[in-house]
Amino acid sequence: MRPDNTFYLRARLCEGNVKFRKQDPALRIETAENGQHPYAIVVCCSDSRVIPEKIFSADLGELFVIRVAGNVLDRHQLGSVEYAAAHLHCRMILVLGHTGCGAVSAALSGGGDGFIQYITDEILLAVGQERDPLRACEKNVEHAVEILKREFSEHPEIPTEELEIRGAVYDIAEGEVRWL
Ligand SMILES: [Zn+2]
Repeated sequence: MRPDNTFYLRARLCEGNVKFRKQDPALRIETAENGQHPYAIVVCCSDSRVIPEKIFSADLGELFVIRVAGNVLDRHQLGSVEYAAAHLHCRMILVLGHTGCGAVSAALSGGGDGFIQYITDEILLAVGQERDPLRACEKNVEHAVEILKREFSEHPEIPTEELEIRGAVYDIAEGEVRWL
């Protein structure tokens, strides 16, 4: 059931938060007091089925996640990656695409309207003439990996030789992450 009643929806969010607050308060307090030390940066889609903390069994403070539909990169995303790599000393950057990506499908169907077009234009740039959804998803990930490698190949605060930049595709049915 998914009633479009905003009162119900807000109550659901509040209930979820009450439940969350009862879980592991010690870790919350510890990370609040000692700061965050995420071991990896994950750039992935906003799709509600693609939740990096669940996919990688990660807890609070373990992953620095940048989510945007179609896992595309623009200056805001690059700034977030730069912050985590330069100031939080993350040395692993993973771009995670996924099967059944609506943003990739929209791009393959000719692109979206409104603000969505900014996303589909970037995906079309990445996929070129490719029309197979899975291969297009992989090419979109590879494109983001190339951008990250290019942008962070020389950086005064990030030791490039220590940086691992990888791409992968998450299968939304199997739950498996396949590294590219
Ligand atoms: Zn997606």
